[in-house]
Amino acid sequence: MKTVYIFGAGASAAEGAPVLRDFLKIAYQFFKEEHYSTELDIVWEFLEHFYGHETTINHSNELEKFPGLEETFNIVDWSLLQNQAFSIRFPRPRLHELKTALVKLISMTLDKSLPSYNGMHQAFVSEVIRGGEDIPTFISLNYDIVLDNAIRSTGYELEYGFYGNHLNHMDCCKKIPLYKLHGSLNWSFCPLCGEISEHNEKVAHLLFKDKYSITCLNCGSDSSQAIIIAPTLYKSYNISRLQNVWDCAGKSISLSDRLIFVGYSLAPADTSIIATVKRALNTINKNREIIVINPSEQACSRYRKIFGENCRVLCQKFTGEQV
Ligand SMILES: [Zn+2]
Repeated sequence: MKTVYIFGAGASAAEGAPVLRDFLKIAYQFFKEEHYSTELDIVWEFLEHFYGHETTINHSNELEKFPGLEETFNIVDWSLLQNQAFSIRFPRPRLHELKTALVKLISMTLDKSLPSYNGMHQAFVSEVIRGGEDIPTFISLNYDIVLDNAIRSTGYELEYGFYGNHLNHMDCCKKIPLYKLHGSLNWSFCPLCGEISEHNEKVAHLLFKDKYSITCLNCGSDSSQAIIIAPTLYKSYNISRLQNVWDCAGKSISLSDRLIFVGYSLAPADTSIIATVKRALNTINKNREIIVINPSEQACSRYRKIFGENCRVLCQKFTGEQV
């Protein structure tokens, strides 16, 4: 039986990663209250300026009244796409700077909040690999490398899908496909040769610092960038290797007999994911089992809305146990 697991933010949250709605608050705690980092000042300045008059933020709890990370990203992206300034204080060059700071905030916060040992993922992955007949495929919407490390700890190598198609990847018995649709903290993109380099450790939080440079493993250039596709309605995937990752993910869903969603909320704003999954399911018409592991009633009802009554919804938290 071919099984595809799709991991969303809820799975990483079970290991300690902040959920999207708490991201700004947690980042403020880490990088303003505990260890002050000037690199993120532009984010707090934008929020203080958000209502058009000066509001001061003095404590992380005050971040709750502001729009969350996702909405802030959407507003910045919309302004940039429409060639508009936000205000006198935030003309377009500063909006670009703000966007970079928001990406930096995500990678720094994840780097700081996740412990190096992630027991639930390790237990889950080793159970899946031990018990399955076919090699499973994992798709992740998370940037962190929790799932990557869990797969590596079983002795398998990772196939991120930058090249080739899913069928080639299934033929290789030493590697397990892990398609990360929104990028990864251990990837760097080289704008010169267009290749993505994969690293064993997280590099994204280093790529924004002036004194660090990550060498492209393909051409040796040292101007690499992070690949963190922001949580916004206006996502862009104009990196051809990343497009290949999406194609591989789509193919794996088409061929699957069982599709298991772990900790993914299937939010209405995730149009690109919903359209990709639906299209993949429609490409090959067969009976599939769709299983959902999510503790939120609201998320569970979203699944019934998108996949009909046939999907099996387990309204429970990800604990690392098999379903
Ligand atoms: Zn290069």
